[in-house]
Amino acid sequence: MQFPDPSPSLWLDISGSYTPEPPLQGDVSVDVAIIGGGFAGLMTAYELKRAEPSLQVAVLEAKEAGYGASGRNGSFGMTVVGLGFGVMAMLRGKQFVKDAHAYMERAVDRMGELIQGEQLDCDYIRPGFLRAATTDGYIRRLQHDIALVQSLGIKGIDWIEADAVRARVNSPRYLGAMWEPRLALVNPLKLAREEKRLALRVGAQVFENTPVTEVRRMGAGFWLMTPGGKVIAKKVVFATNAYSHLFGQVGRRQTPAFTYMIATEPLAAERLAPISWQGREGIEDARNLIHYYRVTPDNRLVIGGGPAVGLTYGGDLDGDADEAGWRHLEEHIGWLFPSLKTARITHRWGGPFSVTMDLTPAVGYLGDKDAVYSLGCIGHGVSMSHLNAQTIRDLLLERQTDLTECPFVNRRVIPWPPEPLRMAAAVGIRAYLRAEDWAYERKLPKG
Ligand SMILES: Cc1cc2nc3c(=O)[nH]c(=O)nc-3n(C[C@H](O)[C@H](O)[C@H](O)COP(=O)(O)OP(=O)(O)OC[C@H]3O[C@@H](n4cnc5c(N)ncnc54)[C@H](O)[C@@H]3O)c2cc1C
Repeated sequence: MQFPDPSPSLWLDISGSYTPEPPLQGDVSVDVAIIGGGFAGLMTAYELKRAEPSLQVAVLEAKEAGYGASGRNGSFGMTVVGLGFGVMAMLRGKQFVKDAHAYMERAVDRMGELIQGEQLDCDYIRPGFLRAATTDGYIRRLQHDIALVQSLGIKGIDWIEADAVRARVNSPRYLGAMWEPRLALVNPLKLAREEKRLALRVGAQVFENTPVTEVRRMGAGFWLMTPGGKVIAKKVVFATNAYSHLFGQVGRRQTPAFTYMIATEPLAAERLAPISWQGREGIEDARNLIHYYRVTPDNRLVIGGGPAVGLTYGGDLDGDADEAGWRHLEEHIGWLFPSLKTARITHRWGGPFSVTMDLTPAVGYLGDKDAVYSLGCIGHGVSMSHLNAQTIRDLLLERQTDLTECPFVNRRVIPWPPEPLRMAAAVGIRAYLRAEDWAYERKLPKG
């Protein structure tokens, strides 16, 4: 199933009622057709229309705006790329880390400017980021990463000792942390819906419940086939993230994997008091397969990730649920914060994220300059997809800018192998990442 109805996320439950735009009926001609109504697709429409108001632009979304990862995520707008500094330096070298971090700083800032400048109603705050160490091994890993980024001249990422971390967020598990002020939190579904409003406001067309079943090259343009009609376009954008393999043109550049989340009931003040968390920081741990968590404006704890990463044969997209993954998160809450051990869980959900073979994001042309794609942000695409929209705009307008020179753009993407080798490779990578996490944690009490 390509567009299953997932378990409703917390965000879906608390974001109010919603009226989708009507599906496409009949044929329309545009300059640029964008497939995908997530942050990347909606913001590309907005950035394009602002740059060239005369362009005819249409966004086609299979379900509703924010149906994909954009509306279901952990809500962290952050500078992290892929699996973080150490892994990126190992895979792609130090200069890449430096250039990628500069891009991501700009991405977080762009997202904030957009939200504040356009007054988007999405519960935006910018509380900063803690990457907490829970073992001596993780202390060494984080301190190594901090020394690496500081040697590259990157500023604004520092080590803080256990006492200082616990003064902010008091978990008995915290032994120190990496601290970075540049992190934003939002309600991601509200943000996606607001971005649809912006795309419409600048004059783009948005068709919801309009799955594109095929993209055909027709002479100098494209035909995008949908159940109710077709879009005839000069240029096309595949802003389809973890769904991109469904299109032959994008092929095996990425594969979907699934991450799972839960949310508690709103927590009474006396339950949160032992934890403090006055600054409402976004927190990840130092694992490869991170846990990520925050508190919402109504004081729910929202947590996701951990060792449960879903993989499906053939890149099937029906992988949004995992009982064992949700149970693990429930236990992890009590392990981190004993005062929340019995907190009631009200929401369980999951969603697909996009993974390239080398765990690095990619944006670029597909063959000639008439088709552009964006994918592979792993679990760190909230801020990035906002800046990617400006990069895609520049690619479509065939402008060479500092964005089109960034290290993610038009890079060589190693394709995943065909099945069954793809599944074997994905399972192998996941097993390696889990084994490394286990090695860092083997002296820990269970949790
Ligand atoms: C549970 C979860 C937690 C995450 N947490 C974080 C986090 O805290 N911080 C962070 O930075 N990142 C996080 N991520 C990743 C982040 O959400 C994504 O990288 C980002 O939202 C990608 O945006 P996008 O617009 O590229 O893709 P998406 O939001 O996935 O949008 C793609 C859209 O394309 C549509 N589509 C696909 N195929 C078709 C078709 N044939 N026809 C029409 N429409 C189609 C889909 O329906 C979908 O809406 C998380 C991801 C998940 C799943």
